[in-house]
Amino acid sequence: MDLGLADRTVLVTGGSSGVGLATVRALLDEGAKVATCGRDADRLARAAEHSGAGPDRLFTAVCDIRDTAAVHDFGTRAADHFGGIDGLVNNAGQSRMKRLDETTMDDWRDELDLKFAGVLNPLAAVREQLRASEQAAVVNINAVLAKQPEPRLITTGAARAGILNLSKALATELAPEGIRVNSVCLGLVDTGQWTRRYAAGSGLSYEEWQAELAADRGVALGRLGRAEEVAYAVVTLLSPRASYITGTSLDVCGGVGRGIL
Ligand code: NDP
Repeated sequence: MDLGLADRTVLVTGGSSGVGLATVRALLDEGAKVATCGRDADRLARAAEHSGAGPDRLFTAVCDIRDTAAVHDFGTRAADHFGGIDGLVNNAGQSRMKRLDETTMDDWRDELDLKFAGVLNPLAAVREQLRASEQAAVVNINAVLAKQPEPRLITTGAARAGILNLSKALATELAPEGIRVNSVCLGLVDTGQWTRRYAAGSGLSYEEWQAELAADRGVALGRLGRAEEVAYAVVTLLSPRASYITGTSLDVCGGVGRGIL
């Protein structure tokens, strides 16, 4: 099926690794043009080089999503470069592994800032361009954690629940502007987030460690997800073929979610 993404432009935050990188690649495969950012210039340059896409298809900028002015500049330059923006994927970020008693008020502020700025800064930067597009769509990368709290991720879980609520509100607010907004909620996906935790040391091979992790967290499919499996869902929601889907949240989690909503 042709997803209708050829020559559309999508801005993906955090496209130098994991889910963001897989989404950039999937969009390029669909013939879309992509703008992406990250904080580490070398990692971003390596990702761009491996994609094989030239500047006519891929625009990159070093930018921290918490920095409103820098994100605005990135969005403006990307829109100027490609002549518009049709889609936005708010993906950049990471989780904070802490329990309540290990968490300071600064941790709470930092986490809420990262999660909310990660959606609101890019949206503000490209909202005008999205409004001008005939088929504008926003996908917010979230986590099943938003609906299923875990004590060991207390700040991230609360922030993610807020982002799920915000996504729904944005879907209503932005519908009159022709902008659809949906969420993709991840379970455990094998990316830098987990390789960094494995590097912290366990004595097991990475495969053994992953299998134990999946069992411990109750992943029905018994394994971590792959970034490409998430990218497929993201690209589908960005597609004009999904033109009647807004305000929804799609779990890509191998069955780790226990709720029915
Ligand atoms: P990775 O660590 O593999 O990739 C994260 C990407 O975001 C990198 O490109 C990173 O580049 C960029 N990034 C991180 N912080 C910032 C920032 N402040 N400003 C700009 N770019 C930033 O992570 P994943 O692919 O696993 O995660 C993608 C999203 O999915 C995240 O929001 C994460 O919290 C969420 N998620 C992931 C899960 C998983 O199991 N993997 C589970 C649930 C949610 P750089 O470091 O150079 O800035």
